[in-house]
Amino acid sequence: MAASLRLRGAASGLRYWSRRLQPPAASLAAVCSRSMASKTPVGFIGLGNMGNPMAKNLMKHGYPLIVYDVFPDACKEFQDAGEQVVSSPADVAEKADRIITMLPTSINAIEAYSGANGILKKVKKGSLLIDSSTIDPAVSKELAKEVEKMGAVFMDAPVSGGVGAARSGNLTFMVGGVEDEFAAAQELLGCMGSSVVYCGAVGTGQAAKICNNMLLAISMIGTAEAMNLGIRLGLDPKLLAKILNMSSGRCWSSDTYNPVPGVMDGVPSANNYQGGFGTTLMAKDLGLAQDSATSTKSPILLGSLAHQIYRMMCAKGYSKKDFSSVFQFLREEETF
Ligand code: NAD
Repeated sequence: MAASLRLRGAASGLRYWSRRLQPPAASLAAVCSRSMASKTPVGFIGLGNMGNPMAKNLMKHGYPLIVYDVFPDACKEFQDAGEQVVSSPADVAEKADRIITMLPTSINAIEAYSGANGILKKVKKGSLLIDSSTIDPAVSKELAKEVEKMGAVFMDAPVSGGVGAARSGNLTFMVGGVEDEFAAAQELLGCMGSSVVYCGAVGTGQAAKICNNMLLAISMIGTAEAMNLGIRLGLDPKLLAKILNMSSGRCWSSDTYNPVPGVMDGVPSANNYQGGFGTTLMAKDLGLAQDSATSTKSPILLGSLAHQIYRMMCAKGYSKKDFSSVFQFLREEETF
């Protein structure tokens, strides 16, 4: 298997030279011009908030792309840049032997892999399939079994870092799968992230990610509560954030992704909570933590409470806003 992966792509490289030598469209022209002869195409499925900048970073490193998204507008920018857009995950698998999926939920990942026009319909032997979506570790394990039956390799590689890190290529990848294949995955993941960490067998990447996001959800709610309380006590929000960030309350939610509008630039709270990491996705991740806690008999008291808060926010119209909008949600809750 390792040998076939090493050979992967070498044969199909030449076929892409002529297409890649066409002048690409405007904004991405510069990034497409590098190393175009030496790299073989990579499939990318799911070009949303995260997938879009991640795929662009592969382009910057000279990888031609074969892209697909159920929402055709998501592919337009890539088509304009000269990348190949196809009409199903199966078509991606037919044309690329390294594929990255970046999809919202377990159901979407199952559809993309095992659906009527899924990857498994046309996957080539020896292909490397990397799923960077945050999904149920049990689903990752099932997908890995199905992929293995087809003579290919599956790895789960969920990410931490958000849209900003996806743009700057500074994501952290948590990778689960056969250790022998880690180097092959690292070659691509290293183009999109500054840390690529091997966690163990398939599903362990998801396990690490779920734990991280449960902690993030709790720390974001804590930061929002502390900021809201301080503001109501008469403190200037910027001053309060500065003090927290030089004190023991400091955390990523307070110093890198502050939820209070006006405290930081370039974060969702500065842009009416648009973009970033949707509240629905955070509620989904906390649901995964809840399921995992039940199956492992682990107490997650604050994780469960955070799950209920984010579910309630979704029901109250916050589902499409960034998860840091929990600050706005709390502002609207005045107690006696
Ligand atoms: P998103 O909703 O912005 O993008 C997902 C994309 O997948 C959309 O363009 C959608 O049309 C497409 N899609 C859905 N089902 C599909 C299918 N069956 N086939 C092809 N395309 C399909 O989501 P996102 O914010 O990019 O997040 C993707 C994953 O990354 C999620 O699992 C999320 O939990 C995780 N994540 C997100 C962030 C963040 O800050 N946004 C950070 C870390 C991890």
